[in-house]
Amino acid sequence: MDARREVAIASRVLHSKGILDGFGHVSRRCPVRPDTFWMSQIMAPGLVQADDVLAHDLNGDLVLAGGQKTFVERFIHSEIYSAYPNVHAIVHSHAPSVVPFTVSRATTVRPICHICGFLRNVGAPFEIADHAGPGTDMLVRDQRLGKALAQHLGDGAIALMRGHGFTTTGASIAQAVFRAVYTSVNCQLQQAAIALGDPRYLSDEEAAACEQSTDPQVGRAWELWVEEAKMVALPNWPAEA
Ligand SMILES: [Zn+2]
Repeated sequence: MDARREVAIASRVLHSKGILDGFGHVSRRCPVRPDTFWMSQIMAPGLVQADDVLAHDLNGDLVLAGGQKTFVERFIHSEIYSAYPNVHAIVHSHAPSVVPFTVSRATTVRPICHICGFLRNVGAPFEIADHAGPGTDMLVRDQRLGKALAQHLGDGAIALMRGHGFTTTGASIAQAVFRAVYTSVNCQLQQAAIALGDPRYLSDEEAAACEQSTDPQVGRAWELWVEEAKMVALPNWPAEA
């Protein structure tokens, strides 16, 4: 699939799954020029067309400036692609199911079921005030903050962001979207299990085994979600090139 159309469709899938609303974004590294990545201009993800998807360089600048406005938080993407050559897609989300886990002092995200093995070893939330000072608006709005978030991510699949949301990565759009959707599912299940009391989470060993068996299957979910998103699509589903 054409990379720009894939980003447009991923935006709509993530919108249809409640991972992105009017805010948040998804990108993918350019398969031809890996020092660039594709991301939409600033707009609601559910409305993105392939033509809205623009090439950005690893400084977060547009490769061909044409007057389009870019996302303030594009540095999340540029700095993670800079730091991790094996990352080919990124989702940044403010999903309401996840945000409580970014502010709770009592718990963090832990893998609760076999589909969510990739959530082992989720670290403490990224504390932006440590880097941006006490008056921060919580946004990763420059390269320095993007670098700090990328470093915080380390080799984990997701970085929680205190009072804000989370960022997840993948070797493909399908994997990054899968991780974003199932981070949200995990948080909903975890909250239900905490309400029942004393949940037993997957052990690290179980989570690693689950990730290994689930990972090759992410394309199955992606294919379904694309069809589902088409059915509920807002106008102008991105056309074939
Ligand atoms: Zn954000």
